[in-house]
Amino acid sequence: MVNDILRKIPSTNEILEHHKIKELVNQRSRIIIKDVINWATNNFRDKIISNSYQRQDDLKKEDIYNLIIDEVIRYVNSSDRKRLTRVINGTGVILHTNMGRAPLPKRAIDKINDVATSYCNLEYDLTTGKRGSRYDSVEELLIKLTGVESALVVNNNAAAVFLCINTLALNKEVIVARSEQVEIGGSFRIPEIIERSGAKMVEVGTTNKTYIKDYKNAISEDTRILLKVHKSNYKIEGFTNEVSGEELVKLANEKEIISVEDLGSGVLLDLQNFNLPYEPTVMDQVKKSLDIITFSGDKLLGGPQAGIIVGKKEFIEKIKINPLTRMVRIDKMSLIALQEVLNIYIENKNIKQNIPIIDMLTKTTKTLLQEANIFKKMIKAKLGNKIDINIIEEEDAPGGGSLPGVALNGFSLAISSNKLSPNELQNRLRENEIPIICKIKNDEIIISMRTIDRKDYEIIIDAFLRLL
Ligand SMILES: *Cc1c(COP(=O)(O)O)cnc(C)c1O
Repeated sequence: MVNDILRKIPSTNEILEHHKIKELVNQRSRIIIKDVINWATNNFRDKIISNSYQRQDDLKKEDIYNLIIDEVIRYVNSSDRKRLTRVINGTGVILHTNMGRAPLPKRAIDKINDVATSYCNLEYDLTTGKRGSRYDSVEELLIKLTGVESALVVNNNAAAVFLCINTLALNKEVIVARSEQVEIGGSFRIPEIIERSGAKMVEVGTTNKTYIKDYKNAISEDTRILLKVHKSNYKIEGFTNEVSGEELVKLANEKEIISVEDLGSGVLLDLQNFNLPYEPTVMDQVKKSLDIITFSGDKLLGGPQAGIIVGKKEFIEKIKINPLTRMVRIDKMSLIALQEVLNIYIENKNIKQNIPIIDMLTKTTKTLLQEANIFKKMIKAKLGNKIDINIIEEEDAPGGGSLPGVALNGFSLAISSNKLSPNELQNRLRENEIPIICKIKNDEIIISMRTIDRKDYEIIIDAFLRLL
């Protein structure tokens, strides 16, 4: 019986003749698809032999042929889903940690295209014709922008914090408030980072209140760093007390120890100019004379993934020669992008137009409502009664470890159809060639106007047309 079925399994060549498989071969390559066919055929054979297929007896050759072809198509599609691809973020979360945080400015990409497709002077000094430093160009820009003495850029902010502690407090003590023992994104946890950096964490204060005397009492001969950490993704409310950067700097100076602040998102603009709550800028913190400040390149700065360390030359020089710095160094493409983004800030004009994160963060409700009306009309014109759309007020979020507790008033489209349930609609949009990610609320899918772009409108409409 089993042998009868095994005899009906089509050959690889027969399967390659099917029109859908031919299409896959055209899109990819014969070798890849042949591999998948072999895998699917073997899979099927194993199932038959181990008797894990029901109704084996009535399987016709044609059924087997179709089963294997379906399996091949499913496999190729699902492996495509794992490749990095562009998505449309309809969630209204701007710095979406799962969607790559900050989309890069076009100018940064153009610069990468210009510089990285050739050789470049990454570590070559064009004045002397000798070896140069990969950090020079960006260091100069950071000094100009923030008024620091010195700067260094590494792979990400986690690495920046790690390097500071490892360089300046190895086998010594780092004092940090209990209320600032942050966990970001599940894997960056201050206590663990300090421990792995080779230092001992000394915690002070209580969950809600910390005073300067707590730090003072905890200082010992072994203390090297007073560390302040930005509460990037939570807020402590009610009866609270927190020690300011100024107080910390004063104490550190008295005791000749180093003040370090992990600032998290590192915004360079005064967000109050856009009717947003005050968020300390890098410049504000530099003015408080902290010895070292670290922040991310791809949060509110709106650039590539990077960890930026700014501060006093004496300490930055030590970090530069730590052998571990090489292990977390920034690659040339990120460096080129960061250079261009910093240039945009230095030019100090058209920042909103040039940096997508800043643009999305500062969109007014008036603009969002206008866009919602335009987009709604466009959808209605193409889909008519097949779709039900309302414009609703819905809060958006800065996301990604920035501006904790801040909600942004915004507008979303709430969409439903009697053909597909909200869950089905949400899933099918996610399966679109350019996946469209949206939320569900009150039995409707909702698409935020803040995190989508005009160039996405047609793509979303085409997806609806195909589905409905
Ligand atoms: C985001 C964040 C980090 C981690 O930064 P990465 O650039 O993701 O490595 C560290 N500390 C704080 C306070 C943060 O907000």
